[in-house]
Amino acid sequence: MTFRTRFAPSPTGPLHLGHAFSALTAFDMARRAGGEFLLRMDDIDRIRSKPEYEDLAVEDLRWLGLSWPEPVMKQSRSGARFRAALAQLDQLDLTYPCSCSRADIAAAADAPQEGVPTHGPDGRIYPGTCRGRPMSKATEDDAIRLDMAKALAVAGPLPAFVETGAEVCGTHALEATDLLTTIGDVAVARRGMAAAYHLCVVVDDHAQQISHVVRGVDLFDATRIHVLLAHLLGLPIPIYHHHRLIRDDAGKRLAKRDDARAISLYRAEGAQPDDIRRIVGLPLG
Ligand code: GLU
Repeated sequence: MTFRTRFAPSPTGPLHLGHAFSALTAFDMARRAGGEFLLRMDDIDRIRSKPEYEDLAVEDLRWLGLSWPEPVMKQSRSGARFRAALAQLDQLDLTYPCSCSRADIAAAADAPQEGVPTHGPDGRIYPGTCRGRPMSKATEDDAIRLDMAKALAVAGPLPAFVETGAEVCGTHALEATDLLTTIGDVAVARRGMAAAYHLCVVVDDHAQQISHVVRGVDLFDATRIHVLLAHLLGLPIPIYHHHRLIRDDAGKRLAKRDDARAISLYRAEGAQPDDIRRIVGLPLG
């Protein structure tokens, strides 16, 4: 299999130093291995994604010296693949429609048992209010959730995944108890969206034949969901590389709203691509 990495920004804001680090890390890894680097636009959230951020991301990445084969895959055009994956999970009887709002979930989860985690990679762990509702009753306004207990019952022996990032390097096995208590019934489709992030990323990483998924260590817990979904869908499990996070002066992880760290601002102020590499601690290009 070709060594292939990707950078997959959600075009909901300008790219900042953390994105540059992630994209450059993926690009450098592919280059060192004689492989390929791809770009993908994770624009499944049609409300928050903006074409101007997409254009700006392309400009920033080109300026940084990155190149990729065209055309760029866009998740907004992957609806058929996402529907097929959702149908596959439905055929296994692993999903149910959920009409709960965030407030419903917060209220139902308000009396946590001592020692039981209440939050997972998606925020609050879903308390199971709609579990058991048949998919035939799903409406446009519903989210679709994975019934984790059922998924674990059909999954057979759980897979492990290989991690090459320095902070969590090694082989990580999925644990059933852990998935039940710290992840629970995750959303695989959200209201008004073709599919939810976790499913989209698994399906499109496979469609792009990504061999090495490079992303921040903040997504390490979400990766366990992705490995399980890939396993349930019968897809190969890629190798993962969770890199360190770029933090601001106060030690906080950078977010899209941190415009002060936007690559476009550094560009406008006359910085050079190697200045960015130096700031994020990468070898010069
Ligand atoms: N699109 C995701 C984001 O912008 C990252 C993709 C991934 O899961 O690696 O956070």
